[in-house]
Amino acid sequence: MSTNTNLQARHAAAVPRGVGITHPVYAARAENAELWDEEGRRYVDFAGGIAVLNTGHRHPKVIAAVEAQLARFTHTCFQVTPYESYIALAERLNSIAPIEGPSKTIFLTTGAEALENAVKIARAATGRPGIITFAGGYHGRTLLTMAMTGKVLPYKRHFAPMPAEIYHAPFPFEPFGVTVADSLRAIDMLFRADIEPSRVAAILIEPVQGEGGFIPAPTALLVALRQLCDKHGILLIADEVQTGFGRTGKMFGIEHSGVKPDMITIAKSLAGGFPLSGVIGRATVMDAPEPGGLGGTYAGNPLACVAALAVLDVIESEKLVERANVIGATITSRLHRIAARNDVVPITAIRGPGAMIAFDIVKDRGGYVPDADQTRAVLARAREHGLILLSCGVNANAIRLLVPLTVSDAILEEGLSVLEVALAA
Ligand code: PMP
Repeated sequence: MSTNTNLQARHAAAVPRGVGITHPVYAARAENAELWDEEGRRYVDFAGGIAVLNTGHRHPKVIAAVEAQLARFTHTCFQVTPYESYIALAERLNSIAPIEGPSKTIFLTTGAEALENAVKIARAATGRPGIITFAGGYHGRTLLTMAMTGKVLPYKRHFAPMPAEIYHAPFPFEPFGVTVADSLRAIDMLFRADIEPSRVAAILIEPVQGEGGFIPAPTALLVALRQLCDKHGILLIADEVQTGFGRTGKMFGIEHSGVKPDMITIAKSLAGGFPLSGVIGRATVMDAPEPGGLGGTYAGNPLACVAALAVLDVIESEKLVERANVIGATITSRLHRIAARNDVVPITAIRGPGAMIAFDIVKDRGGYVPDADQTRAVLARAREHGLILLSCGVNANAIRLLVPLTVSDAILEEGLSVLEVALAA
């Protein structure tokens, strides 16, 4: 039997250290919100493969759809000999996306690839180069998306030069002392100091910053950005890679604001564990690039497309959007009870819509001095007690909960109890 220690040593020898590992727990199998490692140890999984498993590990309907597709064909390349599942999925997403007027959808493979394509489409549609994103935002690790990501360590250091024409504005968050007015003032300053609005193709924002700390974009900011975009002919892009598919208690996170973006990038929970991403957008915008300008060999893989159709069925039939709100309320009330205890690690800023909940670990109760070391220790203690957790945040002191929306009440309760133990030690 392989042990985690043994595999970790092989990992160190065979894989570059740049591929960091959060938990040295080598997965052997997983079901819904549970995972077993190579040593046979069971864990409750509150990470969901970083927001990929809103429908849980191996949802039976997703697996059945993929098995049926496996028996038919696994790849043709959509641009060579297309297939219906891609079209059916595009039609379905076009009908549910919160976008004004007719929409079209392209499929790619990873979240970063979706973002890259959204930028290409925005540039083709506007004839402009500039992209404005937000500090603390995360959009990927490819060369362009690394530049759009608003965090130097560990994503940008040693990888310069960055691609040109990417600008960052501050993201509002009360504990950091940044308001909506500050963000808007900074964009106005960008327009005067760095790039005139008539050269900006798109403003790109996560409705809830994911890697940046599960920080919701205030509705006032999203509304103001929509107005700014309309005034200057700029496209508004919502990066829903982490917020999409029910996680926030709406199908798409931007729906909480009522704002309609011009494009939405999607990935992660779209296909329940199969690699699939996409860009949904206004049809006229999406049709700007010429034939052959968009695509990719694996883009819109047929196994992933049928998985995504099954995921959408499951979200609907199991009412997972509503379930996200129930799960979120359970988590939040438990966290508030834990926060009120004096004998646990100080936690604060419990936040997030639906089941996209995070909280911060700080040095002193009532203050806001981030404690990244304690956050790491809590993750390790949780793991020792059988719970897989993830951290996030620009100060690496936020713990984010990404429990599958298909989790049973009993396993949710079990995971939260372990979390409490890990915070109490
Ligand atoms: N955008 C957001 C909002 C994300 O959270 C992520 C991944 N964490 C990405 C883009 C990049 O996705 P991928 O890792 O699939 O390239």
